[in-house]
Amino acid sequence: MNYREVLVVGGGIIGFVSALRLALEGVSCVVLERKSLGYWNEGLRYFAVAQDVIQWLSHWKIVDLNGFWPIHNAALRMDTMSNEIQFSCKQSEEPRLGVMIQEKVLMEMLVTRLQKFSHVSLFFSKNLQRIWSDSEYVYVLDKENSLYRGRCCIAADGNKSWVRSQLENKPYYYDFGQIASTGVVQFQGDAHTVWDFFSKDQCVGILPFSYQQAAFILMGSSRKTIPSQENAFQKNGFFSLLNRGLRDKIKILGLDRWDGQYPLTAGRCKYETHGLVLFLGDALEWMHPLMGQGMNLALRYASKWLDALPEALISGVCLQKWLRGHRQKNWQGGLGVNVGAIALQGTVRSCVWKAITWGTLCPGVSKWCLKRGRIPFRTL
Ligand SMILES: Cc1cc2nc3c(=O)[nH]c(=O)nc-3n(C[C@H](O)[C@H](O)[C@H](O)COP(=O)(O)OP(=O)(O)OC[C@H]3O[C@@H](n4cnc5c(N)ncnc54)[C@H](O)[C@@H]3O)c2cc1C
Repeated sequence: MNYREVLVVGGGIIGFVSALRLALEGVSCVVLERKSLGYWNEGLRYFAVAQDVIQWLSHWKIVDLNGFWPIHNAALRMDTMSNEIQFSCKQSEEPRLGVMIQEKVLMEMLVTRLQKFSHVSLFFSKNLQRIWSDSEYVYVLDKENSLYRGRCCIAADGNKSWVRSQLENKPYYYDFGQIASTGVVQFQGDAHTVWDFFSKDQCVGILPFSYQQAAFILMGSSRKTIPSQENAFQKNGFFSLLNRGLRDKIKILGLDRWDGQYPLTAGRCKYETHGLVLFLGDALEWMHPLMGQGMNLALRYASKWLDALPEALISGVCLQKWLRGHRQKNWQGGLGVNVGAIALQGTVRSCVWKAITWGTLCPGVSKWCLKRGRIPFRTL
């Protein structure tokens, strides 16, 4: 039987960051990942990582993202309104709002670091068959009948979490009824502003990561009328609509590469912990990709647990009690993103937009937003 203090199920960003944060405190971990080593090289996803997350990652020497492509502004625009809303690094007195990084680069950095620790084991291509626990230990059995025992388990196995289904920890669930497509476009314009553009039944996120290229997420229209990839980006169709909406702030020139499509859903676990199991990342909560918040909110939340867990493990407290006692109410961030996305694409969107615009003019609201989200608001 393999014994490690913490069993991490799922080798995505949250699983690897969790293992690394704990390993740096001397906690032994095993990461059990279903896919093969290097699976992240298949996709071309890019992430916008927020400044406070970068600071947490570098403070604990988990990974240094300071040298990557800087984001100076984030902007929201809607087709029917003349206003746009911008969040700027100047107002937050930070050098930037965050950085853009390709998933595979980040994953390589994390894995390379993890492989240097003798008290961390990484297992890829692992098919798991059972998870259970007694009052002191949690056990995971894989399909080759290898048994792993740990004092607690971090479930970081994504939005279709196997651990969640095994423990029958059902999520609250919302289906946007849309398809999201991702890829890379060529563009001209401000290469340090990320955009979310809402039109009647589509929403597009544009995240520049060089002077000419931007990652995009296109959401919509309804699942019944999914356009073929070619039609969605025909020169005279979608791009010109988008360019008109963006009013030449940035000009999309053409499609570079497709990455893939996935159904757009959001959800959240009913319980953040279950016995000796702690849910983190998309296994706990996943959301609409509005302004690329999923991983940022997940890491902010995970950081609170990961900063406290090593001491709990050393102190010999009853971990089950400790985990239950430390459940935090973190649903506001994810709920806000999802409700905002639904409202901005729903029939009440122009009211919502006006409310946001007027809200940003009120200093009290701006201050509150600054404090909570560390993002300053201003209207143009
Ligand atoms: C197109 C796109 C763009 C995004 N852009 C941004 C952005 O710009 N900024 C941002 O903050 N967020 C972004 N997000 C959200 C972000 O991707 C997720 O919040 C984040 O990746 C969650 O990481 P995770 O480790 O929790 O889950 P995942 O990345 O899903 O990792 C879960 C891992 O668990 C493994 N696994 C699953 N089941 C099992 C099992 N039974 N046994 C073992 N392993 C298992 C999977 O193989 C996977 O490797 C984006 C999401 C998408 C889809």
